[in-house]
Amino acid sequence: MRLTRYFLPVLRENPAEAQIASHRLMLRAGMIRQASAGIYSWLPLGYRVLQRIQQIVHEEQQRAGHIPLLMPTLQPADLWQESGRYNAYGPEMLRIRDRHERDMLYGPTNEEMITDIFRSAVGSYKDLPLTLYHIQWKFRDEVRPRFGVMRGREFLMKDGYNFDLTKEDALHAYNRHLVSYLRTYERMGLKAIPMRADGGPIGGDYTHEFLVLAETGESEVFYDSEITDLTFGDRTIDYDDVAQCQAVLEEFTSRYARTDETHDEAVFAEVPEARRRSARGIEVGQIFYFGTKYSDAMNAVVVNEQGERVPVHMGSHGIGVSRLVGALIEANHDEKGIIWPEGVTPFHCGIVNLKQGDEAADGACDALYAGLKAKGLDPLYDDRNERAGAKFATMDLIGLPWRITVGPRGLKNGVVELTSRRTGESEEMPPEAAIERVAQIYAGI
Ligand code: ATP
Ligand code: MG
Repeated sequence: MRLTRYFLPVLRENPAEAQIASHRLMLRAGMIRQASAGIYSWLPLGYRVLQRIQQIVHEEQQRAGHIPLLMPTLQPADLWQESGRYNAYGPEMLRIRDRHERDMLYGPTNEEMITDIFRSAVGSYKDLPLTLYHIQWKFRDEVRPRFGVMRGREFLMKDGYNFDLTKEDALHAYNRHLVSYLRTYERMGLKAIPMRADGGPIGGDYTHEFLVLAETGESEVFYDSEITDLTFGDRTIDYDDVAQCQAVLEEFTSRYARTDETHDEAVFAEVPEARRRSARGIEVGQIFYFGTKYSDAMNAVVVNEQGERVPVHMGSHGIGVSRLVGALIEANHDEKGIIWPEGVTPFHCGIVNLKQGDEAADGACDALYAGLKAKGLDPLYDDRNERAGAKFATMDLIGLPWRITVGPRGLKNGVVELTSRRTGESEEMPPEAAIERVAQIYAGI
């Protein structure tokens, strides 16, 4: 993309309404624009990141054997009356009436609708196990929408639902989700720690929240510092292997890590003092096993091998897709702007032309642009007629992890400069070598 043809409305000033770095930087970098409280338009740069995140979530869900579908945002109230949650949910639910006076709502989550889909089509244990998921907008009329996309009213969530014959099978589905989430967050360059959590209004005995440690996080968390040393890495997982998934769950959940809702001072005191930490965290996902809560209420049954009709065991599993954009920035920024991890960056590499209109510089930039494209990469070429300082400031603000700087002086010696946004280190090399280097960086991502 050439910047002169793009839509990147960056702000010079710090917006007064933004209290935390991610909100401020998303507004300044022209990623979002508030439509009304807690409701945002995703401008082209922000939309690109949102899409990258969705792509990773889709790939990892499908790797785990989960099946995508798409349910609507608007739901009929009667499904929620069946489960008993229509009245229980309270003012967070946006209730709507259509022209026929039918009660509708903008879905805050989808347990009822997916259970209805399931019961309409599945009647036998032979069709299990089954996990369906979608990535869809949700609406929760939060009392205090704040921090930009971190606590929106309209927000994008991946929510998945498993249907299993037995509790044992459903717990395998739970473990499978935990493993796939570990992989998902790591691919985005995030450390998200599974912590024992509270079931809340969805209910359930088994639940973990995934938290990204950050001072601006809304949750208070307590953990054994050893847990921050764990990484999932590029291990190969067979998602059908019950023992392997269980082993990963044990590895990542055996140390103390809890949110304040489940925190227990007595148990925490057993952790050696030097390793006890309390901090703040951003909840970027949660997994639940809740048994037959919805299948009992909504009569979602299958016939088992013995010919008996039994309610299915279910769980639901969410990832805060739009909140992740904010969480990623909270975890990756400096005073100059955002620093995208390679896995989610909106463009792979920036090209800065120090002397627009100079024949050699323009030609070299065009060649770099074409060369990067030919490698399947998406560069953002700053081809504006602007001072170098302004171009650097924009690149630093929007946070592309790599920048190639092209100027007449370097070109005389046959070199351009490749700079890492994270370390600030630069290296001179011929343009072809810079293309090669950037391609290599992204080869494993
Ligand atoms: P919170 O405690 O932050 O209100 P929650 O526990 O009610 O969230 P879940 O029902 O677990 O949310 O939803 C799954 C994920 O969706 C959360 O882990 C979070 O990342 C994201 N999410 C929930 N509410 C919001 C919101 N208002 N804005 C943005 N993302 C949200
Ligand atoms: Mg939650």
